Amino acid sequence: MPRTSAASAKKLTERRKELVALLEDADRQLAELRHLRESLHDDDEHDPDGVSLSSEWSRLEGLRQSRLEAVAEIDAAAARLDRGEYGICSVCGKPIAAARLDARPGATECIDHAR
Ligand SMILES: [Zn+2]
Repeated sequence: MPRTSAASAKKLTERRKELVALLEDADRQLAELRHLRESLHDDDEHDPDGVSLSSEWSRLEGLRQSRLEAVAEIDAAAARLDRGEYGICSVCGKPIAAARLDARPGATECIDHAR
């Protein structure tokens, strides 16, 4: 039985909600870290924690960035759904396997053409 677009829309909405929650989580952790950094600012250079704080900062920034991109991917998928193009490979125009869309709702290529 073919997947209905209503079911796909629901799945995209749910995934987006999860991703936004994760994004907010990363934002919160970054804010805490910023606060911590500011409180240590005076002796930053002598603080042995300075280095680990910096690497934690990079890690969180990377996490935040990838989550932002994931939300954008879901938004793009929702736009394709509105146009009736959702779940169609952008390379060959064939349907993308349901299992692949389950794993990655924002996929734009079939498994053969995945980047
Ligand atoms: Zn394809």
